[in-house]
Amino acid sequence: MSGLSEDDVLQRADKAFQVYRYISAQKRAAFLHAIAAEIDNLTDDLIRIAAEETCLPEARLKNERGRTTNQLKAFAQLLQAGDWVQATIDTGDTERKPLPRPDLRKMLFPIGPVVVFGASNFPLAFSTAGGDTASALASGCTVVVKSHPAHPRTSALVSSAIREAIRQCGLPGDIFQEVSDTSIEAGQRLVQHRLTKAVAFTGSFQGGKALFDLAGKREEPIPVYAEMGSINPIVLLPGIMRESDTLPATLASSILLGVGQFCTNPGLLIALDTDGFTSFLHKLAAEMAQASPGNMLHTGIAAAYKHKKSEALHQKGVHTLIQEKTDTTERQGAPALALVDARDFIANPILKEEVFGPYSLIVKCEDEEELKRVVQSLKGQLTATVFGLPQELPVYREVIGLLQTRCGRLICNGVPTGVEVTKAMQHGGPYPSSTDSKFTSVGTDAIYRFVRPVCFQDFPEALLPPELQNKNELNIWRCVNNTWTRAAIQTFNLQQA
Ligand code: NAP
Repeated sequence: MSGLSEDDVLQRADKAFQVYRYISAQKRAAFLHAIAAEIDNLTDDLIRIAAEETCLPEARLKNERGRTTNQLKAFAQLLQAGDWVQATIDTGDTERKPLPRPDLRKMLFPIGPVVVFGASNFPLAFSTAGGDTASALASGCTVVVKSHPAHPRTSALVSSAIREAIRQCGLPGDIFQEVSDTSIEAGQRLVQHRLTKAVAFTGSFQGGKALFDLAGKREEPIPVYAEMGSINPIVLLPGIMRESDTLPATLASSILLGVGQFCTNPGLLIALDTDGFTSFLHKLAAEMAQASPGNMLHTGIAAAYKHKKSEALHQKGVHTLIQEKTDTTERQGAPALALVDARDFIANPILKEEVFGPYSLIVKCEDEEELKRVVQSLKGQLTATVFGLPQELPVYREVIGLLQTRCGRLICNGVPTGVEVTKAMQHGGPYPSSTDSKFTSVGTDAIYRFVRPVCFQDFPEALLPPELQNKNELNIWRCVNNTWTRAAIQTFNLQQA
């Protein structure tokens, strides 16, 4: 939106919200379908431009486009089903003694304009029309996007698709706006604006925490749902390390995937120093050594990778396991694998920080007690994983229990990269991986970040939203007097209640 100040943009977003919040769920669902169709209409020009800007391979971007449009359709389906509003009704009782019981009806409503910061590493699925935008628009909130400056042409194309969908659906134009000023200061002004009601962010800890602090200092503090990265620990149990021929290649490809630029990249492997450990290390190192340096998303990310990698590799007790290839150009990042003893790892906070790129650190533990201390020394993570044979997994139940306290998603015998977009997905873990571990930024439950409950007490039927009216014309599941039902509420029963 060229020429508009952040104040203009938020004023428009709020004005549009006063209309959009009354638009029916069915119309919002049709709108989300229209955005998906318009993104498809951008053809492979979108893929070509995104590839030019991000250096991500076209195959990966086509996949990501599919994920983006499927996310939009999944939220549309959620709206069509309607149950997500969590309609809860406790019918009144005028005869109750000593005082009558009021009629209480509660459901979720959109909170207002949401500011979305596009991520650099998902130019489609976590940017302009990505999961944050889709979930906010689905909830009935209006959206202001600050796209990531690393892929401006991709963002502009996707914005044009959203605007076309708005036009087709006859919705207020300002329910979605993209700001043209992508400076840090512009983002800060958006977060500080009094009409902004929530923020969604994916990126660095420094960026997410700065915005979280800014939002907390406002006269009216607002939630900042920041997903700020993770080292995604993997515990390798002795039996599987000894017996699996495929595990080294599986882990290496997960570490190297997308030049390591995933928030779920496995940056930490924890193992016991038992038979098979050394041979496993050699095999993993051999797999990693085959990889060449790859182009990263932007030169800033490549510079940060080189700096953080070098810092980690120079810490006390850290041994590099593969011959370091030079990062040949300014934008390239070369893979790295290193080894450290548990004691040096536990004592050193630098080794617990994310090194965003194709890097992983193996922590060698003397025994199970030391392995548990390593897990206990970890900060909050998006994911944690255990690899083990079926017969050894139950033996390490306590270790698995400790991993659970550190993460939002616990994985058994699979790599953390690759996040399914479903209702059961949890992409958000204890701080500092996210600012609020009760919420997810992936999957349809992401909608709950942008709503709040309102309870109507003793309201006449005609003034209630359809979801809370006796007749339940929308045929949604509701919790009525503590029982889940789709049945209408009979006035006859009410009088008897
Ligand atoms: P970033 O630096 O956190 O930037 C993300 C967005 O936030 C950009 O629009 C940026 O604006 C803005 N921003 C950053 N700091 C801010 C601040 N203090 N106040 C207001 N806005 C701020 O992330 P990035 O550019 O994508 O990559 C940098 C590093 O972030 C990577 O090296 C990596 O460590 C990490 N990262 C993590 C993930 C993850 O999934 N966890 C994903 C991507 C990146 P400007 O661009 O104008 O600065």
